[in-house]
Amino acid sequence: MDLKQYVTTVEDWPKPGISFKDITTIMDNGEAYKYATDQIVEYAKKVNADIIVGPEARGFIIGCPVAYSLGIGFAPVRKEGKLPREVIRAEYGLEYGKDILTMHKDAVKPGQRVLIVDDLLATGGTIDATIRLVEELGGVVVGCAFLIELTYLEGRKKLKDYDICTLMQY
Ligand code: 5GP
Repeated sequence: MDLKQYVTTVEDWPKPGISFKDITTIMDNGEAYKYATDQIVEYAKKVNADIIVGPEARGFIIGCPVAYSLGIGFAPVRKEGKLPREVIRAEYGLEYGKDILTMHKDAVKPGQRVLIVDDLLATGGTIDATIRLVEELGGVVVGCAFLIELTYLEGRKKLKDYDICTLMQY
């Protein structure tokens, strides 16, 4: 299946000059959503993942069906102030300023094999912060999987020590 035909490019959103890849047109098509999920399930089997970790909000959309399909757990990464119990934090840079991602302290157990999943790899800042969280908890990052990679932003360089799987490249 050519998944790219289900991606909608929205020019100048959320700001002038940005060419946004909208993946909701993959999700609202049952065949495309299942196909994309199944590709990442196969990758998760290959790297022998014990648990899926995904950053809000689109990481949940991709990561949860993968975890469900494999019968393994899913641990959410959320913006500060959203998780109810004790958390660890990681800062990451935005175009202007900083943001903070958090995880519950017991979300990943030491030695667990973690597959990190998100919809899109751009500069890699989100996933770099997610990796730091997982590793602080003692998890072993066995791979990072994305629907889309914006190759010109060179996120892979930031993640050079990790195995990366992307289904579409632009
Ligand atoms: P990064 O941290 O790699 O620079 O940016 C990736 C994060 O921003 C991902 O969590 C992703 O959801 C979001 N993102 C950035 N650009 C796009 C885009 O064009 N389309 C979608 N769907 N998400 C984007």
